[in-house]
Amino acid sequence: MNKEYNYIEKYHQIIHESMEGINKHAIEESVDSVIEFVRLTDHDKSELIDFHDTTKLIGGESYKYDVFDKAHEALCLEQWDISSIGSGAICGFVTDAMKHTDNLVNRQFGVPQFLSLLKNAEKQNRQRYEESLYSVYFGEDEEMAFKKAVDCFGGKYPLIAFLFFIKDRERFLPTSPDSFDSIFESMGLGYKMSARCSWSNYCEFIAIITYAQEYLTKSGVCSHEVSLLDAHSAIWLQHYPEYMAWHNETKDINTPMRPKKKIRKADGTISYQCGRCDYSFRQSDRCPECGQLVKK
Ligand SMILES: [Zn+2]
Repeated sequence: MNKEYNYIEKYHQIIHESMEGINKHAIEESVDSVIEFVRLTDHDKSELIDFHDTTKLIGGESYKYDVFDKAHEALCLEQWDISSIGSGAICGFVTDAMKHTDNLVNRQFGVPQFLSLLKNAEKQNRQRYEESLYSVYFGEDEEMAFKKAVDCFGGKYPLIAFLFFIKDRERFLPTSPDSFDSIFESMGLGYKMSARCSWSNYCEFIAIITYAQEYLTKSGVCSHEVSLLDAHSAIWLQHYPEYMAWHNETKDINTPMRPKKKIRKADGTISYQCGRCDYSFRQSDRCPECGQLVKK
C-alpha cells in the first residue's frame, strides 16, 4: 500500500464514521429547501442548477474555486523539499498563498497575526512552523498535522481550515465557525464549530457537507457534477439574507399563508387547499395536516 493511498483511505474512513452520527434527514430537508429557493429566485423551474454560473445568485459562491486555484498555485508545492525545513522558504510560500484568501479567512484579524508569526519567527520557531506546515501538505498523518498546526498557530479555525482547503479542495473546506454554527442550528443539527477547532470536529463538518454533496448528486438537480465545494455553497446559501427572508416567510407555519384555493360549497361552507402541503380542509385557522396558519 503506497503512502498516498494510506492517508486518503484513512480520511475516507473517518468521514464515513463521522457521517453515521449526523442527522441526514435534516440535511436533506435543508438541501431541498435551498434548491426550492434557487429555482424560485435564480433558475427556471425545470432548469438544472449551475453552481458556477456567476450571473446567478448561487454562482456568487464560485469565487471559492478561484481562491483555491490562486492560493494552491502560490504554494508551489512541487518546490517543497524536506531539507528546506527551517530555511524560511516554506514560510515564504505559505505567506504568498495567504495573499489569496479573499474573505475565507478574516483579513482583519486572522491573516495578519499568522503572517507576522511566519515573518518574525526566530530560528527555533521557524523550524517548528515549517515542520508543521510541511506535515500539513506532505505528512502521512493528517490528524497529527492538524493538531500540530493548532499547537503552532493557535486554534483559529478559519485559518487552519484554509491551510487544509488549499491543499486539496476535493477533501477539505474553508469554514467560518460562527456563521456555520447559526446555519447548523437553524438546520436542527446540534453540531457546533466555534471554539472547537480539532480534527474530529473538522471531519464532522466535512461529513455533513459530504452528505449534502451525495444528496445533491442523488437528486439530479445540477447541470454538472456536484463537488464538495458546491455542496458547501448550497449549505452556506442558508446564511444569505435573501434566503433567510424567503425561508422565514414561507417556511414558518406561524406566518399566515394564503390558501392555494378557496372553494365555496353549495351548502355555504368554505373549503381551503393548504398553500404549504396542498391538503384540503374545511375553513379553519390552521391546516390540520401541517399546522400552517391560514391567511384569511
Ligand atoms: Zn398544510
